Amino acid sequence: MTVKILFAAKSDRWSTYKAPLEKALTDANIDFDLRTDFAPSEVDYIIYAPNSDVQDFTPYTRLKAVLNLWAGVENVTGNTTLTVPLARMVDHGLTRGMTEWVVGHTLRHHLGMDAHINGQDGIWRTEFPPLAQERPVTILGMGELGQDCARALSTLGFPVTGWSRSAKTVDGITMRHGPDGLSVALASAEILILLLPDTPATQNTLNGTTLAQMPHGAVIINPGRGSLIDDDALLAALDSGQIGHATLDVFRLEPLNKDHPFWAHPGVTVTPHIASETRPITASQVIAENVRRGEAGEPFLHLVDRAQGY
Ligand code: NAP
Repeated sequence: MTVKILFAAKSDRWSTYKAPLEKALTDANIDFDLRTDFAPSEVDYIIYAPNSDVQDFTPYTRLKAVLNLWAGVENVTGNTTLTVPLARMVDHGLTRGMTEWVVGHTLRHHLGMDAHINGQDGIWRTEFPPLAQERPVTILGMGELGQDCARALSTLGFPVTGWSRSAKTVDGITMRHGPDGLSVALASAEILILLLPDTPATQNTLNGTTLAQMPHGAVIINPGRGSLIDDDALLAALDSGQIGHATLDVFRLEPLNKDHPFWAHPGVTVTPHIASETRPITASQVIAENVRRGEAGEPFLHLVDRAQGY
């Protein structure tokens, strides 16, 4: 029987995803009908961006699963009209993009590149940067993205500490977990990378108290979510010198308001939520595999734990 798949995302996404999705579904031997418009009662699967027009899932009476196009699911986990399995996006292309972005920004701060990029002023600055092995890095959030970044930074020689909700072992990484592990993970964090999801438990993970637990002059790199940081506490920590610099890709409200003090602060680098994105070819393969699994009665990949919010 033909599987009816609704593509529910902003209209400009359709031209980007149509061909890769059709190819991946064909390669997975699925007899499919993929469209941006169906009578809701006909739809088997929704390929979903949380900013799409579909917010009420009640009319989708034969829906088998919602397959999210984004890694972040905070705008859909609380939707009480969604009662079928929700899979989030784990995409090799997205992961590699994030690792490249994180490694690039980590090296910028580790090597002190700004002094030479901004200081073309005739001064012969001869300070050598330390080796990576002398620069402890901590990653909060050791899931798909955090672990890939940790491996890449560890390969470069950085001593990496990771922090997660549950206890786990990751080769070559010092792991901490749970509320008690946070202050230990922060204590050595000369460079801190945030790759936590936005859940009720992760809001304001960085606040006045936790920022004070970091080494003086530490650098923060946040490609996770804006809600992880108390903005006012961060600005105060930047002003006092407790935090040396913050590179921020994500914000509580996006686009970041033109008047927000982050834009003008000399200790802040703003990037416009471009750390990484879902890559259509690899993401389509993940989606096709989940449709295949659904049709074969096999467990879906990358299911969201709705109670935990990620
Ligand atoms: P993931 O695989 O679900 O990993 C999440 C990690 O956070 C896990 O290690 C988890 O711990 C940990 N965690 C969750 N709640 C916690 C808590 N209360 N205390 C301590 N640790 C906690 O997610 P991912 O794929 O790596 O993505 C992470 C986030 O990156 C996404 O949610 C999204 O917000 C963000 N993102 C941003 C961009 C961008 O362009 N800026 C792009 C993609 C994703 P456990 O291991 O114990 O479960």
